[in-house]
Amino acid sequence: TPPELIRNFSIIAHIDHGKSTLADRMLQATGVVQARDMRAQYLDRMDIERERGITIKSQAVRMPWEVDGKAYALNMIDTPGHVDFSYEVSRSLAACEGALLLVDAAQGIEAQTLANLYMAMENDMVIIPVLNKIDLPAAQPEKYAEEVASLIGGEPDDCLRVSGKTGEGVPELLDRLVREIPSPVGDPDAPARAMIFDSVYDTYRGVVTYVRVVDGMLKPRERIEMLSTEAVHELLEIGVSSPEPKPSQGLGVGEVGYLITGVKDVRQSKVGDTVTSAMKPATEALAGYQDPKPMVFSGIYPIDGSDFPVLREALDKLKLNDAALTYEPETSAALGFGFRCGFLGLLHLEIVRERLEREFNLDLIATAPSVIYQVTMEDRSEVTVTNPSEFPSGKVKEIREPMVHCTILTPSEYVGQVMELCQERRGNMLGMDYITTDRVEMQYTLPLAEIVFDFFDQLKSKTRGYASMDYEPEGEQSADLVKVDILLNGEGVDAFSAIVHKDAAYAYGLRMCSRLKELIPRQQFEVPIQAAIGSRIIARETIRALRKDMLAKCYGGDISRKRKLLEKQKEGKKRMKAIGRVDVPQEAFIAALTSD
Ligand code: GDP
Ligand code: MG
Repeated sequence: TPPELIRNFSIIAHIDHGKSTLADRMLQATGVVQARDMRAQYLDRMDIERERGITIKSQAVRMPWEVDGKAYALNMIDTPGHVDFSYEVSRSLAACEGALLLVDAAQGIEAQTLANLYMAMENDMVIIPVLNKIDLPAAQPEKYAEEVASLIGGEPDDCLRVSGKTGEGVPELLDRLVREIPSPVGDPDAPARAMIFDSVYDTYRGVVTYVRVVDGMLKPRERIEMLSTEAVHELLEIGVSSPEPKPSQGLGVGEVGYLITGVKDVRQSKVGDTVTSAMKPATEALAGYQDPKPMVFSGIYPIDGSDFPVLREALDKLKLNDAALTYEPETSAALGFGFRCGFLGLLHLEIVRERLEREFNLDLIATAPSVIYQVTMEDRSEVTVTNPSEFPSGKVKEIREPMVHCTILTPSEYVGQVMELCQERRGNMLGMDYITTDRVEMQYTLPLAEIVFDFFDQLKSKTRGYASMDYEPEGEQSADLVKVDILLNGEGVDAFSAIVHKDAAYAYGLRMCSRLKELIPRQQFEVPIQAAIGSRIIARETIRALRKDMLAKCYGGDISRKRKLLEKQKEGKKRMKAIGRVDVPQEAFIAALTSD
């Protein structure tokens, strides 16, 4: 297809505003998927996406559409909608000339959409505003059309009104895409350059890489080079998805499609990298490639220790499809053998954990999420800490923690509550803007560590679910942080060590001590539970000793019941973890880590 007849676009939308449903209607309207083959959210391939209704990996699909007798090819690139995947969002946007801004006509725009919208505007993309779900009785298209117009300029009437449910307005939308989005521009005679905007592991075909060709042409059977690594592969197959893969004789300027080289691991075909011909390689990469950087860490342990090899295999498999996931083995006195895993953010963590449990049938326990701390010691040495229990023991000069720039959108009546929450979490307000008379955009810098703990839940509950937020990394900052250890009979319990702000240390210590007191059974002797900063004890609880005559007293009369009880205790012992002289059922640790 010549570039003049190509239109590349993506859809910017908040989760649940109807992106997948609208995509389904477009597939139907363009005849790409027949009504009888249609299943809801056709493009959301992973089960987990279907159930949670979120899009994790972007996909591309090509659709034919005729306007004024000319046959166009529309390439729709589905972007992931969540903050954790903002780098992937930025890459899929970079593969397009235009974007649909899809807004639920009963909800209005959300912070996450705003962040992606600003990204698209910075890239000079054409934005086509669309209000969705106009079939809903609660829809207020007039109100939200004004909001949208005040954000992107133009008139409220420029906003299209559609329903992904009924299909109303979808053909008009497709026409408008063709008319308003510019066709791609590139040099057909230059060395080939294509940008990778997604890369997916498929059990049968190996890694399937989604690309947008910028210059030149890529042809099957030629040898291609990845610019960031200079690795060379044979191009086994190249084609377009519509939405099933269709091999072609090559992809030229502006075209979007997939390629297969036989590599087995998405890390060999990285999002953001530039693909070129090995015979006639381009010298300049398309955009600065960026390695995915884990921001949040957590220890993941099998509840049944014998599942450790299964967990390792499961992580190896997931990694094939998730370039951002990192892991290395670690051991914990309390939890046994497991892995310290790095994630892009909390949703990423949850998704990985859920996939491990669901797809590999594992029961897992995860330690509290932690961020990366940079520690400078008195002797000037630098230590990177991703696991609080590995905090260096010498004299510390400074601790720096990662910061984020956070954008919060809220109805104006909740501004006070939002400010209070951000202040509690050591936030620093940067600015506040009224987008309309009743909606406010607030900007904060906050420590990432304060966000990984239930910040989002708190924000939602303080604003009755109306606020939305987004954040992006913004350097690091020195802070008054301390490591709090939890000691059982004088021995540290590694899984409970935490790095917290000085002002929050006492509350953390107290909470963990009283929680553990509830959960740990009495022993033959008295067991102190303490919270400590270094050698200074800041909180204490005591588990009183078991009375010696208890067995005799309770079950004195019935010898068989007594034996049974002893048997049972013995069985329980197997799953006990010894912390010094104290036997603790593993369940106690698990409960202490999961309850809040
Ligand atoms: P996504 O998260 O943006 O991909 O949103 P989905 O397409 O999964 O839709 C979220 C929910 O909104 C689902 O329950 C859909 O059935 C519903 N929905 C989507 N579009 C419409 C629409 O036009 N009208 C109505 N009434 N519901 C819709
Ligand atoms: Mg979706």
